[in-house]
Amino acid sequence: MGLLRGKTALITGGSRGIGEAIVLKYASEGADVVFTYVSSEEKALAVKSAAESLGVRVLAIRSDAADYGQAESLVNEVISAFGKLDILINNAGITRDTLMLRMSEEQWDEVIHTNLKSVFNLTKHALKPMMKQKAGSIINMSSVVGVFGNAGQANYAASKAGIIGFSKSIAKEVGSRNIRCNAIAPGFIETDMTHILTEEQKKAYIDSIPLKRLGTGDDVANACVFLGSDMSTYVTGQVLSVCGALNT
Ligand code: NAP
Repeated sequence: MGLLRGKTALITGGSRGIGEAIVLKYASEGADVVFTYVSSEEKALAVKSAAESLGVRVLAIRSDAADYGQAESLVNEVISAFGKLDILINNAGITRDTLMLRMSEEQWDEVIHTNLKSVFNLTKHALKPMMKQKAGSIINMSSVVGVFGNAGQANYAASKAGIIGFSKSIAKEVGSRNIRCNAIAPGFIETDMTHILTEEQKKAYIDSIPLKRLGTGDDVANACVFLGSDMSTYVTGQVLSVCGALNT
């Protein structure tokens, strides 16, 4: 359909799961895409060639989103390769689930750095070219858990709630420069992150979801197309739930 033709997008964590679905959906809508990965090099190269076969330019770069310096170099690489940055999708995220009484300082720090500090790192550096362009769309991957909380995920829920406050604040700060910032709150999406759940746990989730199915990467990627495209030029500072009405 070409909803993103002529746009350049940077997507963190594009080698697997939701990020992979976003990379492929963006490529199919005509965007040139730069995406990152940390450890899944083979998968990243497969995603890169699948996206390239859709006729757009694609770069896959190993870059730790939690590292401030690497985020700066990454944005510089995007600008030197494509000359602009229209859409930033802060998708990279991890879980280190356990009950609070058992949670180590390391489990807290790892999740906060990868899920929340990464959003600061990339947004900070992406805003410079977006300010110059007087245009941009930033999409931050939160979670329904950031809105409602979840036992055993205090670190993850805190990171995802932080993303919502951050996104609304950025929307207010840079709206006058025609830069938008929104968050997406996926519910239960079938990826490696959720494969650790038992069939029994999955069934319990499905029972509690009014649409009676788990979400797919494509469900989330479609919301990213809307928020990255000119279909949403008056939408900013919002949290778009993609959750089949789970917890609604
Ligand atoms: P996933 O299947 O585990 O994939 C995670 C992706 O993030 C991988 O590409 C991974 O790359 C990358 N990544 C991890 N740490 C990174 C870092 N420090 N720097 C750059 N990339 C990094 O996860 P997912 O289920 O697709 O989740 C994607 C996002 O959606 C996350 O923010 C997650 O919290 C959120 N979300 C997921 C669900 C769900 O049900 N799945 C629900 C709500 C929200 P490597 O493999 O190369 O390390």
